[in-house]
Amino acid sequence: MPDGQNDRGDQGNGPGQGPRPSINWRLIIPLLLIFFLLPMLFNLFQGNRTGQEISYTQFRSLVVEGQIRSVTIQADRITGVLSSGAVNTGLRGSNAYTTYIPIWGDPELLPLLRDNNVEINTEPADQATFLGVLVGILPYVFLLWIFLMMFRNIRGQGRGIFQVGENKAKLYDQEKEKTTFSDVAGLEGAKEEVMEIVDFLKDPGRYRALGARSPKGILLVGPPGTGKTLIARAIAGEAGVPFFSMSGSDFMEMFVGVGASRVRNLFKDAKKKSPSIIFIDELDSIGRHRGAGLGGGHDEREQTLNQMLSELDGFEQNESTVVIAATNRPDILDPALLRPGRFDRQITVPLPTKDERKQILEVHVRKKPMAPDVDLDKVANRTIGFSGADLQNLLNEAALVAARKKDKSITEEHIEQARDRIVMGIERKSIKMKEKDRRITAYHEAGHAITAALLPNMDPVSKITIIPRGMALGVTHMEPAEERWHHSREYLEEQLVTLLGGRAAEMNVFGSMTSGASNDLKRATQIARSMVSMWGMSDKLAHIAMGEGDRDVFLGEQLSRQRSYSEETAREIDEEIMSILRGAYERAQSLLKEHRDSLDKLSTLLLEDEEVDGERVYELLNVPRQSEES
Ligand code: ADP
Ligand code: ZN
Ligand code: MG
Repeated sequence: MPDGQNDRGDQGNGPGQGPRPSINWRLIIPLLLIFFLLPMLFNLFQGNRTGQEISYTQFRSLVVEGQIRSVTIQADRITGVLSSGAVNTGLRGSNAYTTYIPIWGDPELLPLLRDNNVEINTEPADQATFLGVLVGILPYVFLLWIFLMMFRNIRGQGRGIFQVGENKAKLYDQEKEKTTFSDVAGLEGAKEEVMEIVDFLKDPGRYRALGARSPKGILLVGPPGTGKTLIARAIAGEAGVPFFSMSGSDFMEMFVGVGASRVRNLFKDAKKKSPSIIFIDELDSIGRHRGAGLGGGHDEREQTLNQMLSELDGFEQNESTVVIAATNRPDILDPALLRPGRFDRQITVPLPTKDERKQILEVHVRKKPMAPDVDLDKVANRTIGFSGADLQNLLNEAALVAARKKDKSITEEHIEQARDRIVMGIERKSIKMKEKDRRITAYHEAGHAITAALLPNMDPVSKITIIPRGMALGVTHMEPAEERWHHSREYLEEQLVTLLGGRAAEMNVFGSMTSGASNDLKRATQIARSMVSMWGMSDKLAHIAMGEGDRDVFLGEQLSRQRSYSEETAREIDEEIMSILRGAYERAQSLLKEHRDSLDKLSTLLLEDEEVDGERVYELLNVPRQSEES
């Protein structure tokens, strides 16, 4: 429910995700079946014409009995039809037959046929008809075609089977590449640092005369969507030197050793064109801690990483090739990569501040028709926690909203709607809830909102809705008045109260629980666990960081890492978490009991209007909105 801020995923658009030619298997499998069944059908059809196979003896006696009307002789094969009045032939169904002349021949056959007035036809030995041939080879042609398609498909991903170890780095064309530093808003510090490197590469002699050596490895570190890839592209645009760009995942192949040879080729090519820049995006996909992670692929990654390390070490004094890499997971990088002489210079690319958000918005409204009422300052104010990519996405969504309404320019209203969609999820008005469920949802959300509004350190409530959005049946949105650089214990505890306020309201009013609170509970538990084990915020286990909190095991590490505390402590941690959560729940309960009338009023409002502005909650409770200084 609340504070959708943290729920947004990575909106950065990684490179190289264009459409690829792909095989449509749903189409191909039936086709394949048809093509393989066709020859069988053809045979069946031919079988009808050639009829039942009979012995030569039987054939001769049928001739003698006058039951055969015609024969067609083709090499040693005889086919034909029975005469119309044939009876007791022993042939089932059809009146066609097939038999074969013995290899020693039958000199009496011709006179016998003549004597019995059988019509004789002959055909050339090889009766392979055009249709027969076609039907026969079709499956093979088809197989060949599929194979070619697969081959092209593989090549389409830049993974031609015959160019396995080749350097696939994209060499930016300086004429065409238009990204410059003016496209990168904010990030002054990062720009300054990389500008220095660009400057060095433009004129290495000037630096060398002063005895300065080029920095070898620079690592751009920051959350997704903050503009790391963008800066790299801007460097390419600014530097007048060859710029080799490659993404970490490009090194990963199904064949062991391919990644390593790609690394070797990349560095070789770049050094040949020195001074030059190598950019490796998403370094973490190769540079992950060795021996960590689940599943296979270790050997390949390790070899690639080792090759990278040795290439980084292998630079000569006078070489001026700079390696720049980007990652949003510096914590999982192998420490060997960060050693002096390798990626020893880190440039942080943080989430934008308010002013920077405004600048980023300014960059992205350049090519959009904005209505004069749009105040980017205000938009920047209301997008705390948004990355550059999120802001770009916001304006794009706003443009979509405007287009859907057939408006000519983007207004503040459009931006507001787009923001709601992004932070609270897309409305799903099609879901028709039963009245009982709507009531429960209304009380649940009102429970979140009332508790949040009453707690002094919480973020102010900005909107409550019981229109299903995304996965949620209702949303209570709280929005910090300004950036929070760190969280106080009081704030976190109040956050827990608010999270549990939804369920507390349900219990208060209906006396029963629903599963609707599962996401609230999960988040509350995560916060409580971090409070105890990471931030040392419990009374019993104060000031100790015992773990890294909750981490995705699929990112590796956790499994292979030794737990640094005993079973005893583990139990104590769990007990502390439970007691923190219990305390928060009780606090929510008593707040809601005390303000039961406001809870009822807010729920009624929600049932009527579906969406209620945060201001109304404060009016109902007759308390001031949390101010910026709290
Ligand atoms: P990252 O590589 O850090 O995940 P990207 O560089 O791919 O992020 O950023 C994605 C998009 O977000 C960029 O293409 C750009 O449009 C926008 N963006 C991000 N940061 C900025 C910024 N500082 N100024 C302008 N646009 C930005
Ligand atoms: Zn909830
Ligand atoms: Mg990126």
